Amino acid sequence: MPSRRSFLALSTAFSLVPLTGASAVTQVVGLYRRGIGDIVVTALLDGHLSMHPDELLSGSDPETNASLLRQAFIPGDTVDTSINAYIIETAGRTILVDGGAATAFGPTAGNLSAGLAAAGVDSARVDTLFCTHLHPDHIGAFTTDGTASFPNAELMVHGIEHGFWTDGANFAGAPEMVQTFAGMAQGAVGAYADRLRLIEDGAEVAPGVHAVHLPGHTPGHTGLMLSSNGEELLIWADIVHIGPVQFARPAATIAFDVDQPLAATTRAGVLKRVAADRLEIAGAHIDFPSFGHVEAAGEGYHFVPSRWDHTL
Ligand SMILES: [Zn+2]
Repeated sequence: MPSRRSFLALSTAFSLVPLTGASAVTQVVGLYRRGIGDIVVTALLDGHLSMHPDELLSGSDPETNASLLRQAFIPGDTVDTSINAYIIETAGRTILVDGGAATAFGPTAGNLSAGLAAAGVDSARVDTLFCTHLHPDHIGAFTTDGTASFPNAELMVHGIEHGFWTDGANFAGAPEMVQTFAGMAQGAVGAYADRLRLIEDGAEVAPGVHAVHLPGHTPGHTGLMLSSNGEELLIWADIVHIGPVQFARPAATIAFDVDQPLAATTRAGVLKRVAADRLEIAGAHIDFPSFGHVEAAGEGYHFVPSRWDHTL
């Protein structure tokens, strides 16, 4: 159960996200395909959120943040953080992993539908919506005006995640912003109430695609492990939000974490494992197209983006 303090931090954090007035340059549609063995993974860029490390992170002081942003050649004191979703195609299946922010955070996000169209994926073809967690920047495109956007898709989410967001008792007395989030989560799962599949750690989502429970950011926060023909990829969802700081300072937690100590413990474990195993990762808030490796560096880690993929 998150403390009232974490709810307050969450509320404060989101009030800092500019809801209007941000100008977003429209590049070509953010779309990038990778082959993981026989599995095709397409990263889709929904947009971005501007994040201020000093305001949002606990466990990393302003001087450290400034130094790390300078090392990353990022001007100013905010980091534009990608919002990524993914299409997984394997064994005749079409799985959409997360649904972007739609209109929840203003004009800098909400491009997922254009990405799906550019990828040639009609909404009727998507058979599964895999929801890593029920935060607003991951469920936006799942519904249109409150009804299901994907007529043939089953919504798959961890049972703990579903239970957390749909239990009104968890949000009684919570700040209005948090109650709004809960309402959005309930709206998304409600639209798919007749085709909802609640999963647990290790569940097979498709052949070679398995759920990995990574709790802390939210109680049922879940990534996906892809494995095919000797190649592997971990889609780790929200393990890292502000990469230029959190790879170097993995103990730094973000205000959006429902359980910050558990989020830090989970992040530490995942980073240690992927660095030791040289396991490629992709992340919802890693710079698009978001694929790369993690190597140990100093007291933390360093992210090495994957090279451009010329072949599938
Ligand atoms: Zn997120």
